[in-house]
Amino acid sequence: MKEKLLDLLACPSCGGDILLAYASKYVDKQIIEAVLTCQKCTREYKVERGVPRFAALDKIEQEKAETAENFGWQWTHFTQENEQYAEQFLGWLQPVKPEFFIDKIVLEGGCGKGRHTTLAANWGAKEIIGIDLSAAVETAFQATKDLPNAHIVQADIYKLPFKKVFDCAFSVGVLHHTPDPKKAFASLASKVKKGGAISAWVYGEENNEWILNYVNPVREGFTSKINQPTLYHLSKLPTLGVFLATKLIYKPLNKTAKPLAKRLFYNDYLNHLGTFGWREQHNIVFDHLVAPTAFYISRDEFEKWWKEINAQETKIIWHNQNSWCGFGKIK
Ligand SMILES: [Zn+2]
Repeated sequence: MKEKLLDLLACPSCGGDILLAYASKYVDKQIIEAVLTCQKCTREYKVERGVPRFAALDKIEQEKAETAENFGWQWTHFTQENEQYAEQFLGWLQPVKPEFFIDKIVLEGGCGKGRHTTLAANWGAKEIIGIDLSAAVETAFQATKDLPNAHIVQADIYKLPFKKVFDCAFSVGVLHHTPDPKKAFASLASKVKKGGAISAWVYGEENNEWILNYVNPVREGFTSKINQPTLYHLSKLPTLGVFLATKLIYKPLNKTAKPLAKRLFYNDYLNHLGTFGWREQHNIVFDHLVAPTAFYISRDEFEKWWKEINAQETKIIWHNQNSWCGFGKIK
């Protein structure tokens, strides 16, 4: 934890300022082990292994904890780098471009292993804070600790430990895995200051009826309940199906016979998936099978989120015809 992060923190219980009570370990001027305290209510929060901890997993409700634990396992086991990440991230952030981050104080709701935190930091954010509930913060901290403008905090998206200081906030692929996505979105928006902006990407309900009908029952009844290493191996089977279909059918047909390709099942998305290699596809399939909670949001429902936070100049974009990107300004 970099000491300058203290200026942005606020007690999640009472909103008071957070002070450094004492630090027992520093490495390269970073706080590694310490106790933080709220100036107002005197609650204490620990810094462990470089990460301030505002949410202890054992104290969080079962459902949220399971989601965090499941994704946490994944993020410490799928740690490959991929040059397509930036392109993929920008697809989800539409219409935001890299320049948008320059000199902004940015909050990321659900940073996983810090892939997007790193990108936003490299694109010139003044400060970028990635929060996550899960053990993935360990990987995220290691990935970002040498970036002077990146910070990782373990926190609950419903009880964010920050002042209302952000120029922008974003959340990609996380809100639909929380027990109440709209509430998580509103919580994130509440930390953006007047004139700032918020971006979100969520699974769409439209065109995903087959997931709702066939994948969700399997996920809810079986795959989210089995142990992670078993699912890791088991999910190679459906990945093989997706991999062969995208590489042998969707990609070639989209290159050589577009009108025919357009008639294929789920063409936009599967053609897009065809640009990824085996590991990334395995990651995506695993992702759809592992989460105890997953909501598929309709456009109408998504529009309501933005209306309820009173967002201005809202833009909603259909991504790969199966998910929604949203962007709006905070009044
Ligand atoms: Zn307090």
